[in-house]
Parts: sequence; C-alpha cells; structure tokens
Amino acid sequence: MDTSFEEAGAAPSAPGPTTEPPAAEATTGGPGGATGGADGAAVGRVAAAPASLSPSRAGDFMQCPLLYRFRVIDRLPEKPSEAATRGTLVHAVLERLFDAPAGERTAPRAKALVPGQWDRLRESRPELAELFADDPDGQRLAQWLGEAERLVERWFTLEDPTRLEPAERELFVEAELESGLRLRGIIDRVDVAPTGEVRIVDYKTGKAPRPEYAENALFQMKFYALVIWRLKGVVPRRLQLVYLGSGDVLTYDPVPADLERVERRLRALWEAIRRATETGDWRPRPTKLCGWCDHQAHCPEFGGTPPPYPLPLRVVGSDGVEQGRMGAD
Ligand code: SF4
Repeated sequence: MDTSFEEAGAAPSAPGPTTEPPAAEATTGGPGGATGGADGAAVGRVAAAPASLSPSRAGDFMQCPLLYRFRVIDRLPEKPSEAATRGTLVHAVLERLFDAPAGERTAPRAKALVPGQWDRLRESRPELAELFADDPDGQRLAQWLGEAERLVERWFTLEDPTRLEPAERELFVEAELESGLRLRGIIDRVDVAPTGEVRIVDYKTGKAPRPEYAENALFQMKFYALVIWRLKGVVPRRLQLVYLGSGDVLTYDPVPADLERVERRLRALWEAIRRATETGDWRPRPTKLCGWCDHQAHCPEFGGTPPPYPLPLRVVGSDGVEQGRMGAD
C-alpha cells in the first residue's frame, strides 16, 4: 500500500455533491449548427454541438456513437440494473464512512451503513423500487445487500481508512479547455499528501481488467487528472483504481505528456461528436457489449428503428422565446 498519502490530513474532509454531473453534454440552439430536419421544416432550427463531456459519455461515444446518441440526444430511459445500483450504494457507504473519526472507520461500522444508505438511495430514486418488485419474500434483496457488504469489507484489505483523511470526496470537477470543450465529472476521492502531491482515487465494484485492457480503465483517471491539471495547474502524482470485485489496486503516475495525449484524443472525439450532431450520422458499432445495451429495440443492428432525427429542436422565435427543445441541457 502506498503510504505517502496516509495521514495526509491537512485539508478538512469536505463531502462534495453526491449527484451525477449536471446533464449538459449536448445542447441545442445557437447559430452555426446544422439546419434541416427529417421533417424538412427546419428553418430557424439548429442542432448545436455538445457543450461538455464526462468520462462516461466519452466512453459511450468511443464504444458506440449510436449509444451516445440514445443516451445524450434522445435521452431514452434505461432500466436500473442491480450491478450499477450496488455500485452506487457501495460508493455512498465508502463516502459516508469518512464522516466518522479516523479510529472508528472499521469494517463493521462500514457494513452497518449499508441498510441506511440503501434506504436513502431508494428515497432519492423511486424508480429503484422496480429492481426488487418481484421479490416478495425479500430473499434476493438480502443476497444483494450481502454482496454490497462483502464489497465494502474487501475495501479494508486494500486501503486503511483509519490512516486516510481525504481532501475531497465525491468531488464535482469541471474545466474548460482552450478549444472551448468543457470536461466534467465526479471524482470519488482526492487525497493530498503533506508535500502537496495529489492522488485521485476511484472505486470500482467490478473486477480489475486484464492487463491489455488497463489502458481503457485508466482513460477515465487520466481524464480527471487533466481536469485537475487545468484547474489547479498541478499534475496529480498518482491515479489509483480500487477494484473491490477482485481485490486489486491499479495505479499509474501520469506525466504531462500523458495528459496532453488525452487532451488531443478528447478534442478529436469532440469533433467527431460535433460532426455526428450536425449530420445525424450516429453509426452503431456492435460489440459484445451490446448484450448490456438497453436500446436494442431502437438499434438497426438488432432490427430496431431509432427515434426520428433530429428530434423536435429548440426553436428560437422572432421574439427570442424558445418553443421547443432537443436533447439534454
Ligand atoms: S445495441 Fe450495440 S450497436 Fe446498438 S446502440 Fe446498443 S451498443 Fe450500439
């Protein structure tokens, strides 16, 4: 275990927002976007380029441009999944554990937080009730909560929270690049060593990837490192992925050249998203990950039909009043 960030404690613990980044990855309106719609009645209607990118949405576009469109432009609903919800629950528990004094951050205390955090999550997201709607005797829910507890417990074999004092938890970050692209996301934990060195930590409830896929896993961390670099002028000393599913820790010490490469890659990605927004050419890219995609019914690769494109676009009338909208803003 790397100890240089332990007992870092200079900065007070400051819980950040616990919500997803504000949904502003694609916006509409404004001059300069493409005109012309499927209905041929597009005068005054424009589709604007995305205003910002998060690691998740960048990952969506890299995986499948059509998936990005369904999520960001069409905003098609998706069913909650047990695995993703368990991940959210475990993250909430690990965040809240740091409310306790250092000496009391024990595994039993963390496990005891699981039921209460599950209640809070259900209250804030009523749609999660459907996850266990067909589980009248509560057996499946009990197993699911038990698995969340095991993941929480495993964390104690990888890190020692009694020796950590995070500078930030669930930190919302946003930075604008020179190109005008805004990058945004939520970092699970930021540790600052007494020397001022910064470590960015992300918890994963899945298993560590095979070495040949490690670069993909690190993309998200380099994205955050780039944001921190742009915001604070400091390249984080270490990026750390903590895999609770397999009990592994993946670390990487970035250098400026790494982050410049990521910036170039994001710029190219943003350009590709702008082009797709303007042309409506959102190509499906089928892979084995399609098995987890909620949108097969709308995907041509599976015999489906996407919603009409462009969607009803934001129309700015002569009085400047917006009369419609498209996508996320
Ligand atoms: S099913 Fe596959 S190809 Fe189709 S939108 Fe989803 S990820 Fe893309």
